[in-house]
Amino acid sequence: MRAEVVVVGGGMVGATLAALLGGAGVAVTVLDARPAPLAQDDVAGMPPGRRVSAVTPVSQRLLSGLGVWETIVARRATPYTGMAVWDAQGSGEIAFEAGQAGVPALGHIVENDVILAALEARLAALPTVTQRFGAVIEGYQEDADGACLTLAGGEALSAPLVVAADGARSRLRSLAGIAAEPRDTGQVAVVTTVRTALPHGGVARQVFLPTGPLAFLPLTLEGEPRYCSIVWSTTPEEAERLVGLPRVALGEALEAAFEGRLGRVEAIDGALSVPLVQRHAERYVRPGLALIGDAAHSIHPLAGQGVNLGLMDAAVLAEELLDARRRGIRPGSERILARYARRRRGDNAAMLALMDGFRLLFGATHPALALARNLGLSGVDRATPIKRLLMRQAIGERGRLPPSCR
Ligand SMILES: Cc1cc2nc3c(=O)[nH]c(=O)nc-3n(C[C@H](O)[C@H](O)[C@H](O)COP(=O)(O)OP(=O)(O)OC[C@H]3O[C@@H](n4cnc5c(N)ncnc54)[C@H](O)[C@@H]3O)c2cc1C
Repeated sequence: MRAEVVVVGGGMVGATLAALLGGAGVAVTVLDARPAPLAQDDVAGMPPGRRVSAVTPVSQRLLSGLGVWETIVARRATPYTGMAVWDAQGSGEIAFEAGQAGVPALGHIVENDVILAALEARLAALPTVTQRFGAVIEGYQEDADGACLTLAGGEALSAPLVVAADGARSRLRSLAGIAAEPRDTGQVAVVTTVRTALPHGGVARQVFLPTGPLAFLPLTLEGEPRYCSIVWSTTPEEAERLVGLPRVALGEALEAAFEGRLGRVEAIDGALSVPLVQRHAERYVRPGLALIGDAAHSIHPLAGQGVNLGLMDAAVLAEELLDARRRGIRPGSERILARYARRRRGDNAAMLALMDGFRLLFGATHPALALARNLGLSGVDRATPIKRLLMRQAIGERGRLPPSCR
């Protein structure tokens, strides 16, 4: 079957787009450079992966509609009903409760591989979706019918629409000549998993240190609510030091930086570092080509929004393509793709700018800025309507949501 849409990159975002389109009967081919799909093993008794995502209730609704949320929850997902954020250099603190936003949970912490394995299983069950692994693209060309890709080995593949979902360093984006200047945040994320003496109580906590934010994201393993996934954004030098520490010393460093809020911290895994670069592609579309997820924008993880923004790109693009298909318009049409770009660019740009603002404000050591920051945090904490608005934004309730997310 000739593909109507080829998705390059079967990560969480590309796989979600393929599931949305395939579920509606569109012929989709997903190409991924990874050699094989993820194993569909039961994760019980297995240590958690170090790469996790905070999945908002809006993204949860999207994944539920695809029939994958049940699989995710059956494997491993930890709901959080509270969030606490504070400034290590002062007294400012803000706390959010799910009840204040009228939702049962503010989100779930889920291992990326758990999300992806559930999506891959769903794709395998869709008759119009073909997943190809070990598929590395080497060439891209716009043509009269859409776009043509060349794979390593020389095979050519053409389709009316090609979607770049191949991550922050998207090869397809570069082959198409779309710029996305990297902006170094000056920070590196150190990720690991810890066990804490005190239970996390379903609260996602983050302290802003002068060198960057440190998040303790709640994980419940085998019914034991004393684990956290760590995302510590810090200077490259500090990250190198942390990655080189033996586990006992890593736990001690985390406990001290976290002001002992969850008691003794024991690292149950080594630390891994991930560079933090923000990028925004200068354009999201060309005739026959659309960029989604990290290929279009990569964002500092301090507010846990990256994959949620990407899932929203997938939902909006699918809505536009399926609507066009009902009206007999081909998927690569410039007009349809422009509608997708218009609907997503503003939201993503606003979130990127907000992350820059947070990082600069919390990194500032000037006493006047530190005072303003602390007064601001505590002020917002007391201002119920502003707080409610912020929470609605954080859980993904922004603008007109596509039907798949309502
Ligand atoms: C430390 C850290 C913490 C984070 N925490 C959160 C969080 O709490 N919440 C949140 O929403 N987001 C979070 N994010 C962001 C989130 O991880 C990303 O936004 C998300 O992984 C992007 O998904 P994606 O599918 O667009 O890209 P990717 O996950 O990068 O997937 C890209 C896929 O494309 C494939 N690929 C790459 N190149 C090629 C090629 N040339 N040909 C074919 N295939 C290719 C890859 O194999 C991969 O499968 C975090 C990020 C970091 C770094």
